[in-house]
Amino acid sequence: MKISFHGAAGCVTGSNYLIETDNMRFVVDCGMFQGSKTLKENNYRKFAYDPATVDFALITHAHIDHTGLLPKLVKHGFKGAIYATEPTVDLLKCLLPDSAHIQEIEVMQKNKRAERKGLEPVDPIYDTQDAENAIALLKSVERHKTFEPKAGCRVTFFNAGHVLGSSFIEIELKDKGQTRKIVFSGDLGEDNKPILNDPDRFTETDFLVVESTYGNRNRAPHNKEQRLGELAEVFNRAEKRGGKIIIPAFALERTQDLLHDIMILKEQKKISGIKVVVDSPLATEITKVFIKYPECYDQDATEIAKKMGGLFDHSDIRFTKSVDESKALNDEKKIVILSASGMCDAGRIKHHLKHNLWNPANTVLFVGYQAEGTLGRLLTEGAKTVRIHGEEINVGAQIEQITGYSGHADQNGLLNWLSLVKEVRQQVFVVHGEPESADAFAVLLNEKLGFRAVAPRMDEVFELLADLPVLAPIKPRQPAVAGAVTTAGDSHNQYAELMLKLAEFMRSNKDEKVRSEKLSKLLAEV
Ligand SMILES: [Zn+2]
Ligand SMILES: [Zn+2]
Repeated sequence: MKISFHGAAGCVTGSNYLIETDNMRFVVDCGMFQGSKTLKENNYRKFAYDPATVDFALITHAHIDHTGLLPKLVKHGFKGAIYATEPTVDLLKCLLPDSAHIQEIEVMQKNKRAERKGLEPVDPIYDTQDAENAIALLKSVERHKTFEPKAGCRVTFFNAGHVLGSSFIEIELKDKGQTRKIVFSGDLGEDNKPILNDPDRFTETDFLVVESTYGNRNRAPHNKEQRLGELAEVFNRAEKRGGKIIIPAFALERTQDLLHDIMILKEQKKISGIKVVVDSPLATEITKVFIKYPECYDQDATEIAKKMGGLFDHSDIRFTKSVDESKALNDEKKIVILSASGMCDAGRIKHHLKHNLWNPANTVLFVGYQAEGTLGRLLTEGAKTVRIHGEEINVGAQIEQITGYSGHADQNGLLNWLSLVKEVRQQVFVVHGEPESADAFAVLLNEKLGFRAVAPRMDEVFELLADLPVLAPIKPRQPAVAGAVTTAGDSHNQYAELMLKLAEFMRSNKDEKVRSEKLSKLLAEV
């Protein structure tokens, strides 16, 4: 019995784990690498195993960094069932075709550039048909109900409280007359999130594969009242300025969380009757999936839904249907626009920022983490001008940020989730974290809870029937596949940063002599 780590090992994205026994092979998650260009290159590499030999797949939740390479798996010969909860299946029916569409457009742009440079064109990682083929293999499972995808393998899904449908998975596996229990945490939400029920717990296992996005960090503690209070304050400040409130938000979960909180504040009359528009076709589709599963709501959301007749049924909230309707928002003055993407690097939000950032009456509210190199990061760091679609835009709008919304449990949250675990008989594998975070959390688990823990790196393989201790991987600690991810510095990001700084230098220095001296120095370096 072996486990190998082919993603989210030494990085956060690309979750993909292969488990093998004498008579079966299956994967848990099959995610896309996201973030820097260096990481994204991994999406183009060959799978480290032959997808045609994989019997089935188990999916913890719908996020693309856990599911985005399923169509590629199918394209390269996988024919088994893909098991996920019913809400996850419904979400994937929206998210996978959307992801395929993005791949197609990205590759088209990449190839235009390649053609101009005289380089060979590349194929998209997968296309819409591959996404449809993956969707055809989806099979929904009920939480808390054990099933057997193959003889010798018993699987149970539990609530992970991270996004709608998200689960941690318990697997009991037989091989060579021995049984091992493995728990995959997937991504874990924190308690008291808007809408979703708090995560379930487990009490014992042989192996645990646990996420560590915030393995070395704690956010400032906050409760529901603080979160709502902060949001109301931003709204009231923004309304005094008299303009629009633009909120970049992920289409899945964050958009719905905000709508939920805005509805509560409107109900409590803590904010005005300002109209709210969701301007993202994907977020609109995803919101319909939320409406379909009221059994996933916590007590708060259930009460609001009952009062309003539906969780997002409010006369102040509407969803745009056409591009024309989206464009018409430019002419409206007092309005809240929720649009994707959450980091402003794609989607309709870029249009709204292009048309509204210059105006000091407007407010842009950030409610999520902004990765390095994104437009969102530049704005939250106080950039005075930004480039959108090749145009230089002056930042006049008020930039606000709220930290009370998070998809992931922080270090204390993770420890709290593990506090009911009486024993991990063999070992913990710490995944889904930057190396510093994963390593620090492995050490903490050992010191605080007495678990043997290790943070695996890309493509490492561990034998699960070995005698204790099994800390060391059975393959060397280096990428096993050419081109595999390295977490060393990212030159693409540094290049982008240098270009931005250079543009800023040229804007702020009009003296030819100063300009020429600086540029001569830089040129001499390269
Ligand atoms: Zn996730
Ligand atoms: Zn994730």
